[in-house]
Amino acid sequence: MKKFNFSAGPSTLPEEVLQQASEAILDLNKSGLSLIEISHRSKDFIAIMDESRALVKKLMKLDDDHEVLFLQGGASLQFLMAPLNFLKKGSKAAYIDSGNFASASIKEAKKIGFIDVLASSKEANYTYIPKNYEIPLDVDYLHLTSNNTVYGTEMHDFPETSVPLVCDMSSDILSKELNFNKFALIYAGAQKNIGPAGVTLVIVNKTLLGKTGRDLPSYLDYQVHISKESMANTPPVFAIYTTLLNLKWLEKQGGVSAAAERNKIKADLLYGEVDRNPLFRGVCEKVDRSLMNVCFFLNDEEKLKEKFDKMWKDSNIVGIGGYRSVGGYRASIYNAMPLEGVQTLVNVMKELEKTA
Ligand SMILES: *Cc1c(COP(=O)(O)O)cnc(C)c1O
Repeated sequence: MKKFNFSAGPSTLPEEVLQQASEAILDLNKSGLSLIEISHRSKDFIAIMDESRALVKKLMKLDDDHEVLFLQGGASLQFLMAPLNFLKKGSKAAYIDSGNFASASIKEAKKIGFIDVLASSKEANYTYIPKNYEIPLDVDYLHLTSNNTVYGTEMHDFPETSVPLVCDMSSDILSKELNFNKFALIYAGAQKNIGPAGVTLVIVNKTLLGKTGRDLPSYLDYQVHISKESMANTPPVFAIYTTLLNLKWLEKQGGVSAAAERNKIKADLLYGEVDRNPLFRGVCEKVDRSLMNVCFFLNDEEKLKEKFDKMWKDSNIVGIGGYRSVGGYRASIYNAMPLEGVQTLVNVMKELEKTA
């Protein structure tokens, strides 16, 4: 039986997607060829790429200014590509430090230009989303991290500003409806909420490109990837195809709005238990809680950790250990985590209360 995989990333994918992906490894579309041995220039693969791009545009309701790219190097390479493509020579950009990945993006950007960190929640071990900061109007963009995977906080509102917004949406993209067209750049490593590791979804407003005065290396230039339709080099065909299968699954389940409703129900169920059960407590400010990564502590770890850990492991659950800098537990409940998985975890928490 497939386990309930609460890992933060790589993370769970629907069983039917895994089934279809494994069939394509053996024989793609009854062609007698494996998905991973066909040419990326073949008709079959170009159709996969075109369909993937079109489906992202449809699910996210993107306008024609926004281009969809499938790149490599993870969200981590985007920490560097964002400033290279959007930060003008001699100018500055604003960042919000809301977690370890936000902090990593700042570190990279500082190598490219002047970075103004407007706000940080580091002093509180990133247990809340910084708010009420002043956004200077002379910055080239404001960089945000919409969901802080490690700490379990999520931006439920975005600042209203004329400054171009750049957002790392690695762990909550496609989990809820947003006006994605208001962003200059969105990027997301696929392995949280989109598909397998190996591909990064990048959505860029092409009308804002080519204005930095930099002569970029080709591979780091979004305009090159746009003109080559994400095939500047051999694309990760397996990761892209599996992503397409997963996006089709999402569409069949009712698209982003239906996913958002399911995600709310799952998160309410789990946070409800964390708040109700006297053995547990939440980690983050309630208003900033992530609907994707639910972080919680056992109040009496010394007495109950061993018992609780055995109970959830015996219940077909994997991957709820917290990140090393936070400790406790983290249950990642992305789009593909079924309600049944969350209910199983909640039942274990209730059972612990009864037997503790
Ligand atoms: C996982 C994650 C990253 C890092 O992604 P890679 O694809 O491994 O580079 C960056 N930002 C956020 C918010 C993440 O969750």
